[in-house]
Amino acid sequence: MDIYYEPGLENEATVASESVAKVFLTNCKILEKDRGQLLRYNKLVNGYELRGLENQVPSLTLTTKDLFMTGSTSRDDDYFYGFSYYSAWVSVCRLWSINDQPEAEIKVKKQTFVRRLDHVLIHELGHIFVRNQEHYEPYIITNEKTGHKTDTGEHCLDKRCVMSQFEDLVMLETHINDRYPGYFCERCRSSIRV
Ligand SMILES: [Zn+2]
Ligand SMILES: [Zn+2]
Repeated sequence: MDIYYEPGLENEATVASESVAKVFLTNCKILEKDRGQLLRYNKLVNGYELRGLENQVPSLTLTTKDLFMTGSTSRDDDYFYGFSYYSAWVSVCRLWSINDQPEAEIKVKKQTFVRRLDHVLIHELGHIFVRNQEHYEPYIITNEKTGHKTDTGEHCLDKRCVMSQFEDLVMLETHINDRYPGYFCERCRSSIRV
């Protein structure tokens, strides 16, 4: 599998390849490449929308761009830490923040950021490599202040499984702390095919 990274994210690409080797037992080719041409800029949210990825082979792309759902009008609600549809994408700009706001550079301890990055990229690749998702259920995030709903797709209901959904960095940290040592619940793990 290939891992693409924007210039400046080579350390993150190395972290990613080590995570993938450890969890999915496969080696990656690491390639410096800005894949921004696959995205569409949405000026309402000052971020990029993911679109038209149907013909991609499985890969992972690391970007500093803030990622949003297609047609998003809500900067506070519709962003993704990562996204997976044929290929997996992970944005670092909020994962290295203190308070979920997009940042141009790392604002937390490197170890904190690396733990978050590892979890999110394994989650996104899990959307591709966990082949039996019959036990998944739709997950919708509701903003308690505004009532805004974001449909984040189907996820594992086992809160200790890396394939369960989280809503913000606080919840992500809880999930990392409580996660199974092998990342996946038994039902997800048994159908992983890379
Ligand atoms: Zn997910
Ligand atoms: Zn699971």
